[in-house]
Amino acid sequence: MSLLTPAARDAALALAPDELPCYIYDLSALRQHVTAIRAALPQAVELYYAAKANPEPEILRTLAPFTDGFEVSSGGELAHVRSAVQGPLAFGGPGKTPDEIVAALTAGVERFHVESLHELRLLARAASRHHVGSATRPRVLIRFNPPVTASALHGSALAMGGRPTPFGMDPAQAAQALSLFVDGELPELELVGLHAHLASGLGAEAQLALAEEVVAEAMRLAARCGVRLRELTVGGGMGVDYSRPAERFDWSSFGAGMARIAERHPGPVLRIEPGRALTAYCGWYATEVLDVKRSHGEDFAVVRGGTHHLRTPAAKGHEQPAEVLAVERWPHPLPRPVAQGSRVTFTGQLCTPKDVLARDVPAPGIRAGDRAVFALAGAYAWNISHHDFLMHPPPGFRFLHPRETDTAG
Ligand SMILES: *Cc1c(COP(=O)(O)O)cnc(C)c1O
Repeated sequence: MSLLTPAARDAALALAPDELPCYIYDLSALRQHVTAIRAALPQAVELYYAAKANPEPEILRTLAPFTDGFEVSSGGELAHVRSAVQGPLAFGGPGKTPDEIVAALTAGVERFHVESLHELRLLARAASRHHVGSATRPRVLIRFNPPVTASALHGSALAMGGRPTPFGMDPAQAAQALSLFVDGELPELELVGLHAHLASGLGAEAQLALAEEVVAEAMRLAARCGVRLRELTVGGGMGVDYSRPAERFDWSSFGAGMARIAERHPGPVLRIEPGRALTAYCGWYATEVLDVKRSHGEDFAVVRGGTHHLRTPAAKGHEQPAEVLAVERWPHPLPRPVAQGSRVTFTGQLCTPKDVLARDVPAPGIRAGDRAVFALAGAYAWNISHHDFLMHPPPGFRFLHPRETDTAG
């Protein structure tokens, strides 16, 4: 099965060599994907998109009609997302500065995910100084970091919680935060609920087990403190399997499981805030093979660009799924470099052995001048990369828009 949609393949082949490398985004495929996700989730579960996964305005605009809001994690993301799309924003992330908090209040951010007691006090002070009327008190979700069983975190690629981390509050601190509201010490803020984001890279079954534990812990904590939870965010972290790109997160069983959790715990609106699993599949990093060489018995294909544009495989320590598109044209009056073996390692133009996009890829007969396209590059790809290292030119960006005749559903 191809790693590319037909539109992405056409685009990758149509680009001229000097337009490569290029990020290609299939917005039609993205719209289909998010439509299916929305359909798999129970009506009562809200879907926010974690903008840090890929904040390109075209991506945000494509997602907006199918999402209930956006999670932003800095003042920069907040201003960017606010100007790109409409819809409620939840402002999360550790180390919010007083200036960011004031900017968020001024922008009328719909929700704050508060990470610490100090941050809660900063927010309360900023809210009282900025004379926010009681009708529009800033809404607060306390981010908490409950203990969870190892089985719930099993298989997680990145654990943000359930252990010592800089994120959120321990149950005792979270209880203290809730008590401040109960005791009437934070009249300038409105407590609406709790928030947790504990792990990423989980399959549907593990994600559900984790959500179940988070919801149960949240209900216990709220009951103990005598507060009524109106909203409960259980985080993102739905897995993307880079080694098996055809196998996607099972949104149907996750949605059915969330419906069961909502039934068992009536009251709060449940919300999820995935990033990676929404946008990873709609993006590709397309480039050309500049050189093919053999080193100590192994073949290397050196591509135009590298991990300064697509850091994901270096950052996560995986092989980025790759597909070769053969190009017959060879413009140079020179012998064409060709692989001797059946497998190659794709490397970029950086002078570091870490500049590896994918190892041991089946690519018999790959030649200089062929195209290499790296899939699952729609999330945590361009925007987490170290663009300026070695001063190569930036990639191009192509957004393939849904045709007018496509329907939204
Ligand atoms: C990064 C992040 C997310 C999204 O995580 P994914 O693994 O991309 O789904 C959600 N919530 C918070 C608080 C985050 O920091």
